[in-house]
Amino acid sequence: MPVVEVVRGDITSEDVDAVVTAANESLLGGGGVDGAIHRAAGPRLAQAGAALAPCDPGDAVATPAFDLDPPIRHVIHTVGPVWEGGGHGEADVLASCYRRSLEVADEIGARSVAFPAIATGVYGFPADQAAKIAISTIRATPTRVERVRLVAFDDATYELLTAALQG
Ligand code: ADP
Repeated sequence: MPVVEVVRGDITSEDVDAVVTAANESLLGGGGVDGAIHRAAGPRLAQAGAALAPCDPGDAVATPAFDLDPPIRHVIHTVGPVWEGGGHGEADVLASCYRRSLEVADEIGARSVAFPAIATGVYGFPADQAAKIAISTIRATPTRVERVRLVAFDDATYELLTAALQG
């Protein structure tokens, strides 16, 4: 099981092999964390994404990290669920995002992976539930990844992830 850490920060400057982005199905880049990662990686990221699109909600695919700073070498693009009240399988799709991202990390040989709080921004997933799903799914997924960093962009997300990690 990987060591799981919760940190506050900007995922584009994490000291990891792979960063996960909260993409949309087109993989062309969007707002929020995906916009930040695409800006830092440069336009080749969208070109590489387009070649692999569409990506279904709950699935994940990997591309190079292009202009992101070392040691980041890979971007894992996963598509979260759009929150529609919770009765449309959103929790299962979100769990699948974490599981599939770790599977893809194994396929590309990444040993350290940073995740944002997938789906809790524009997609509207309640951040407290999302934090619990993130921690429980990472703990339940067999992987060769040694270190997982959950990167919170704001204090509230940091507190929720820390509580879920200790719970
Ligand atoms: P989604 O569309 O999946 O909801 P968002 O990017 O809108 O994705 O939000 C997901 C989370 O990523 C939110 O908690 C948001 O605050 C956070 N976020 C935004 N920019 C960054 C960044 N540069 N690094 C880490 N997290 C970020």
